[in-house]
Amino acid sequence: MTSDDRLGQARYCALADRVYGEPRMPAGTRDLILALGWVTLRDPRRHDPTLDLWARARDILNADDAHVVRLIAADAPRYEIDWHAGPQGCQAPMARAGQLCGRGTVYGFTESDPVTGWATSWGFCGRARCRPYLETTHRRAAASHEAAPKPIPNKGGLLPLFFQFNWERRYLHATKQVGPFHWSPPVYGLSADEWPEAPGQDPPQAFPKLRLIAADGELIPAARPRLL
Ligand SMILES: [Zn+2]
Repeated sequence: MTSDDRLGQARYCALADRVYGEPRMPAGTRDLILALGWVTLRDPRRHDPTLDLWARARDILNADDAHVVRLIAADAPRYEIDWHAGPQGCQAPMARAGQLCGRGTVYGFTESDPVTGWATSWGFCGRARCRPYLETTHRRAAASHEAAPKPIPNKGGLLPLFFQFNWERRYLHATKQVGPFHWSPPVYGLSADEWPEAPGQDPPQAFPKLRLIAADGELIPAARPRLL
C-alpha cells in the first residue's frame, strides 16, 4: 500500500463518518457523496487521466445518467415551505382563550418572517366573526413580503459541503430537467454551512472540501485529489 493509498483511505473514512453522522442527509445524497468520495480517494483507477469522474461514480452506483441528474437536483439548495407546519383550519381565535375557530379555510395566504424570510401560512373561514382577524392578518402579511429578506435555504446544499466543484452549473443543468424548475442559486451561498442560522435548523458542520478532479470530462490539471 502506497502512502497515497493510506492517505486516501484515512480521508475516505473521515468522509464516511461525517456523512453517516449528518442527520439531515437524504439517502440519495448520501450515496452520491460516498460514491464521489470513493472515486476520488479510493478507486484503484483514480489516477487514470482518461477517467471521467461522473461516469465512474454513476457506474459504481449502478445508476444511469437520469438517476444521477435526479440526485443532483434533489440537493439543489433552496427554501421549501412546510405547508403542514402550524394549525390546520381557520386560525381566528375564539372567545375562549387559546382556541382557534378551526373551520375549513376559504382564504389562505402566507406571511414572511422578517429575519429568516420563511413563510408562515394563514387560513381563515368565511364566517363574519372571523373576518376582522382575516383582514388584520392579511394586511400585515401583505406588507411582510417586501420587508422580508430572501428566505434562508432549508433544503439541499450538502454536496458543496464536501466537494469543491462548479455546483451552480450542475444544479442548473439538473433542475432544468427535473425541477425544482426556475431554480436559481440562493443569495446565501450554495453550501449549507454558509447559510445564516435559522431557528429550528441546526447548521451543519463545515468539512474540508475535496476537490473533484474531473469536471464534465474536462480535466483540471491537478493529478491528485487534495483537501483544500
Ligand atoms: Zn373561522
